[in-house]
Amino acid sequence: MKIIMLGAPGAGKGTQAKRIADKWKIPHISTGDIFRANIKNGTELGMEAKKYMDQGALVPDELTVKILLDRVAAKDCENGYVLDGFPRTIPQAEVLDKALSEMGDSIDYAINVDVPDDSIINRMSGRRACVSCGATYHIEFAPTKTEGICDRCGKELILRDDDKPETVKKRLMVYHEQTQPLIDYYAGKNILKSVDGTKDMKEVFKDIQAILEA
Ligand code: ADP
Ligand code: AMP
Repeated sequence: MKIIMLGAPGAGKGTQAKRIADKWKIPHISTGDIFRANIKNGTELGMEAKKYMDQGALVPDELTVKILLDRVAAKDCENGYVLDGFPRTIPQAEVLDKALSEMGDSIDYAINVDVPDDSIINRMSGRRACVSCGATYHIEFAPTKTEGICDRCGKELILRDDDKPETVKKRLMVYHEQTQPLIDYYAGKNILKSVDGTKDMKEVFKDIQAILEA
């Protein structure tokens, strides 16, 4: 099963993608996580991506598409995957479709996690991330057992630089301009499903499960 998660930054794409990946035993692929791992390891790609990420802008398609296509060509993706944060532009979606159709394949579902902008700023300022293992928490809605420490790996959590309110506003603008058009793009392909992302995380997952099991 090949799934794309759509939605504004902070809508809960990563939260739900992890649950889908666990339940359906498919890899969760987040381009944001791939960039952050490269930044942490000081790679050339990481340094280049950071320039854009810090400003709340998108990393150029040329860089992003290659990384994603290499990742989905890996053996563990044979039975499908859940993409979180890719595609973010129409050209990215077109490249992915082309690569898949050349193999006689296609995306099964594009799930839009719908959350209005006014809920997003609060979500993002409360998000805490583990740069070591990629786990995500929220100080109010998904707290850790010990404040500031990752439940999964015991490392310290951070507030991502790009989750600060000034950058979130910019990211929301970029989302509406460049990523939201993907909703119509996938609706046109009859694979769009929308869920109400303002519900509790468990409820959102139930709604997604109902879609994927229908
Ligand atoms: P995205 O991957 O879309 O950027 P995340 O999954 O990281 O978003 O979620 C953003 C923040 O909101 C995280 O701190 C997460 O714990 C929290 N969150 C996710 N889903 C919900 C929800 N349904 N209700 C409340 N908070 C949520
Ligand atoms: P995320 O972790 O998905 O919120 O992504 C964090 C940041 O990484 C984004 O604000 C972009 O700067 C960059 N990024 C992640 N995925 C993409 C993508 N598909 N295209 C362009 N930039 C991306």
